[in-house]
Amino acid sequence: MNFLNTLGIQKINNDSASGETIHSFSPVDGERIASVKITTPVDYDEIVQQASDAFLQWRLWPAPKRGEVVRQIGEALRQYKEPLGKLVSYEMGKSLQEGLGEVQEMIDICDFAVGLSRQLHGLTMHSERPAHRMYEQYHPLGVVGIISAFNFPVAVWSWNAMLAWVCGDTCIWKPSEKTPLCAIACQNIISKVFAENNVPEGVSSIIIGTKEAGEWLSKDERIPLISATGSTRMGKAVAANVAQRLGRSLLELGGNNAIIISKDADLNIAIPAALFGAVGTAGQRCTSTRRLIIHEDIYENFKEKLVKAYGQLRIGDPLNTENHVGPLIDKDAINAYLNAIDECKKQGGNFIIGGGVLEGGEYQSGCYVKPCIAEVEHHLPIVHAETFAPILYLMKYKTLEEAIQIQNAVPQGLSSSIMTNNLREAEHFLSPSGSDCGIANINIGTSGAEIGGAFGGEKETGGGRESGSDAWKNYMRRQTNTINYSDQLPLAQGIKFDI
Ligand code: NAD
Repeated sequence: MNFLNTLGIQKINNDSASGETIHSFSPVDGERIASVKITTPVDYDEIVQQASDAFLQWRLWPAPKRGEVVRQIGEALRQYKEPLGKLVSYEMGKSLQEGLGEVQEMIDICDFAVGLSRQLHGLTMHSERPAHRMYEQYHPLGVVGIISAFNFPVAVWSWNAMLAWVCGDTCIWKPSEKTPLCAIACQNIISKVFAENNVPEGVSSIIIGTKEAGEWLSKDERIPLISATGSTRMGKAVAANVAQRLGRSLLELGGNNAIIISKDADLNIAIPAALFGAVGTAGQRCTSTRRLIIHEDIYENFKEKLVKAYGQLRIGDPLNTENHVGPLIDKDAINAYLNAIDECKKQGGNFIIGGGVLEGGEYQSGCYVKPCIAEVEHHLPIVHAETFAPILYLMKYKTLEEAIQIQNAVPQGLSSSIMTNNLREAEHFLSPSGSDCGIANINIGTSGAEIGGAFGGEKETGGGRESGSDAWKNYMRRQTNTINYSDQLPLAQGIKFDI
């Protein structure tokens, strides 16, 4: 466990921590890694005050200078990629490859944000009045509250924080109570860079706590923007609290993602895309593939190949690179998985690969499960809910219109894809009458995204967009400026007001 020391985290074996604490258990081996003190209301108040004070200075730093700090964070993350990737894998349970991939995503967003720091530009407009000029500019917004989920314990924060920082905002991060150590490790890495650059204290803070700490943020009038990633249940609560005070919220919530497998699909890519999408991160990605909508002509053939591929999966310690599937996050997740399987059976689903919890040997944490597959009718209620586990639902379709209708029939709208070599089908899927999701792909799966595009989804996924494209605009306030360089005062719309 050298990676813990490298990241400034001490493994403890007793109850020496004082005050109220959160214990972080690894789902990999069930061990308690460390305990972290919960932020008290008094500490919270000071943290927000410090972030508000720091904003007054930070907003005046030229954006490219802020970008230079973010560039150095990217360098530090390159240096710590391996230990941080291992911690992500050990505390959250995703495979080491995916843990390292998550840190790479942080590095990528740093690079993106550095370039962005010179491109925070608005438009110019022609005024209707003579000798007038109009333009818009984007100013720093203030303190940004970031609430994050357990399944991307470091990348989601960086999507928000790196953009917010080049935009001139300060950030307070409330990580998931299930992965507090990943947040502390990130804070340790960046604090050295901040100190070297004399960044004001309070540009980056963490608060540790359960949903209560998230509620403090969402109700706090000093925080103009709350960016919240997690379940739809959480998003509805946060949205209501933020709306109550007319703040801004950026919501990245649950998904229920489908791949349409056309009869014109290349099965050599459709099978691995479906497999990785369904079992990668043990089905605990917001973009995990939960539904396959398969053309009836190739249904049996596809099913046979998929079952064969599932037979080759190795489940076990995610830090062992031989394994494909690691554990679920905790016992609550195990119960949700088992309940969904029961519910699916009750509603008429037919499991062609059965589920179950693995026991003994390397499965001592009790968090390892078998990825399973059920054949279902698309309208079953369980199929419309997001179960954060490797349960895959198969259904048949006859026409593309029907497939798209099935794909769009769920309340969530995050990621979607179609596997087809048929140009008409592909274009239809991307057209206004196609997928209703924030992400729609052709010939790649639903899972995973590059940082260059805006990431997010519609409907119960919350409507927010983070990461690339123009998502940075969420973190700034827009101001329209009209400048009169004449010696007259003509009013807009030709209104006369003579005295
Ligand atoms: P969760 O909703 O249980 O918790 C997420 C975060 O919200 C945690 O930090 C938690 O403490 C906090 N929280 C919970 N209730 C709150 C409340 N009422 N007010 C304020 N904060 C509150 O989610 P989870 O189990 O950690 O993560 C899994 C969920 O996250 C899945 O639904 C998944 O699809 C979603 N997710 C979405 C995206 C996306 O980009 N769309 C990315 C990752 C995860």
